[in-house]
Amino acid sequence: MQEEYGLAYLFIAHDLAVVQHIAHRVAVMYLGRIVELADKRSLFSQPLHPYTEALLSAVPIPDPKGRRDTRVVLTGDVPSPVNPPSGCHFHTRCPYVMERCRVEAPALRELQPGHWASCHRH
Ligand code: SF4
Repeated sequence: MQEEYGLAYLFIAHDLAVVQHIAHRVAVMYLGRIVELADKRSLFSQPLHPYTEALLSAVPIPDPKGRRDTRVVLTGDVPSPVNPPSGCHFHTRCPYVMERCRVEAPALRELQPGHWASCHRH
């Protein structure tokens, strides 16, 4: 249908395994903000935001031999979007949090051609 009618789809999901089969371009959102935006291949092979890393590490692998060694488990609860944390909204759950993250919100920047992310680590 997309090719025949020239349609664009906006597909919203929590399951990145499904997104991988549907999307050409992926935006990852946390507390209502885009934290990473890239074409599918780039995002799945080289995630630049810690939240994307965590989401990808949680995608089940059907082959037990292909099991990951590095599962990123986020601690804490998702904060309220009505009263989000200061600085980077992800800082209360980020495994790489730095002092700067608590006070300064990172801008969404193009870190590689067509690959955008908001994180002080890059
Ligand atoms: S800016 Fe800091 S808290 Fe936010 S995702 Fe990057 S490292 Fe983590």
